[in-house]
Amino acid sequence: MKHLNLLILAGLTVAISLNAQEKKYPGRAPMTPAMTEYWQPQPPVVTPGKIDKEAVSAPSDAIVLFDGKDLSQWENTKGNPAEWTVHDGVFTVKKGTGDIQTKQKFNDFQLHIEWRVPEGIQGESQARGNSGLFLQGIYEIQILDNYQNETYVNGQTGSIYKQTPPLVNAMRKPGEWNTYDIIYTAPTFKKDGTYRTLPRVTLLQNGILLQNNTVILGTTPYIGFPEVIEHGAGPIKLQDHGDPSIPISFRNIWIREL
Ligand code: MG
Repeated sequence: MKHLNLLILAGLTVAISLNAQEKKYPGRAPMTPAMTEYWQPQPPVVTPGKIDKEAVSAPSDAIVLFDGKDLSQWENTKGNPAEWTVHDGVFTVKKGTGDIQTKQKFNDFQLHIEWRVPEGIQGESQARGNSGLFLQGIYEIQILDNYQNETYVNGQTGSIYKQTPPLVNAMRKPGEWNTYDIIYTAPTFKKDGTYRTLPRVTLLQNGILLQNNTVILGTTPYIGFPEVIEHGAGPIKLQDHGDPSIPISFRNIWIREL
């Protein structure tokens, strides 16, 4: 009898574990890009103050990442030389050659970068001067021509892409230089790979505040929600988006490690 009881118990255990293996839960519905895009409220437009034509040069303790001469501080994401076009003291996205990133990796920093949408640019929404600046190679701050060009607000210039829209729209006209000044605090991680402290960013465009010590929730994918990926120091990466409009240019890039 005791033997039989044991047999029944063993059989039951097998049945329960089989049942647990076979139990099916519904999968997550496939996401589309529009599920993480919203268009209202549109940030107010603020006209930046006038600036001189000449760029303001780097402070004495900065690492100069582009001084108008060459892309020696940059590489493509495979570690080969950056192929974007250097001309007239600036460099311009060369479509189809891929994103470029700094050879050097950074943690906390202050970054200055200037970018220009070409005069006569055509296109609308995201298909107009689309690029982007990835903090530590991971978190995209959008770069886009939003001068009289609306798009989903969490994808407009100065947004943390698909997360947080900018406080205002501080675009200069196509043909004029925009500045970004970025103060970034890198995340720290727990042993299990989740954030102990989240990344944070402050961003000024043309001297106007767009992000005020904003928490970054994770990666900034085109489709889907932010994910948390454990990482260390990372590069400054610029996006070759490949939208059909004329590509944008960059100049005067410097960084101060904090
Ligand atoms: Mg972009």
